[in-house]
Amino acid sequence: MSITVVGSIAYDTVKTPFGERERMLGGAATHFALAASFFDEVRVVGPVGDDFGERQLQIMGTRGVQLGDVERVAGGKTFFWHGEYGWDLNSRDTLDTQLGVFEGFQPKLSEDSRASDVLFLANIQPDLQRDVREQLPEAKFVALDSMNLWIEIARDSLLSAIKSVDCLILNDAELRQLTEKPNLVSAAREILSWGPPAPSVIVAKQGEYGAALITREGFFALPAYPLETVIDPTGAGDTFAGGFVGYIAAALANGTAATNGDRALPDELLRRAMAHATVLASFNVEEFGTERVTRLTRPEIDARLTELHAITQFSGV
Ligand code: AMP
Repeated sequence: MSITVVGSIAYDTVKTPFGERERMLGGAATHFALAASFFDEVRVVGPVGDDFGERQLQIMGTRGVQLGDVERVAGGKTFFWHGEYGWDLNSRDTLDTQLGVFEGFQPKLSEDSRASDVLFLANIQPDLQRDVREQLPEAKFVALDSMNLWIEIARDSLLSAIKSVDCLILNDAELRQLTEKPNLVSAAREILSWGPPAPSVIVAKQGEYGAALITREGFFALPAYPLETVIDPTGAGDTFAGGFVGYIAAALANGTAATNGDRALPDELLRRAMAHATVLASFNVEEFGTERVTRLTRPEIDARLTELHAITQFSGV
């Protein structure tokens, strides 16, 4: 089994109160792939320009991430994003976005990428997400992320993309913006009611406050892992998604994710996926860009999972 991901592969220029980096490796697909690679083989689909370095490709290939469908466009420029954070690391200003090679990109997936059981449509133009979704009609689990930009400029296409997936992973503010509902739970319930077909799992990312899971059957939430030092939140959402989707992919692959026949995944499995996602994201924000997650080890993940479990337990109800 493997996971296919389409989304931005980027150069990011980022400034936080703790430092800055120019043109470091970034992009939603990159952060997702590095996190998900702890759980299953990941295949990245997306274009880069002539300006994309061999060193960057090497970093993306950490832990066996498959790059056969990363297309180098002659004469093209790699997607570029420039963002800045103030003291409140939960909100950021986008100073520049240059789509570069993503403009007019036509994804041509290899047979291997089309054969993946799990698909993640990371943040990119919804038309592109729909195109890739159509190339994996048999996928067993499909999740999608997006952002305010696409809600504003490509709403109809985004709505059709959302209706074609099992799971929607969005920031809480974006869920409210998408549904025009001020309350998070009612926003999620609204999306769950769009179907069928509609996502049956909604994950609301809440930055430093954690994340919530809303399904037709229930609700679950975890705080973010309590860190004393956060350096750069860029890519935290995609790393979270990599942990979440990666954990589910591994469970589908080893048969522990028995579904009840209608694609719905067991609540217990989704909760454990939330815990893995939370832990992966917590490592990502400790350093700039992909720096921390490229060095991360499985024992470090396991140790933090145990701590997260301990701090979210209570008894005596
Ligand atoms: P996150 O912090 O998880 O929301 O993701 C940040 C990553 O998303 C950065 O590495 C950017 O390169 C990428 N990104 C920013 N804006 C966009 C956009 N409009 N489309 C696709 N990717 C983007």
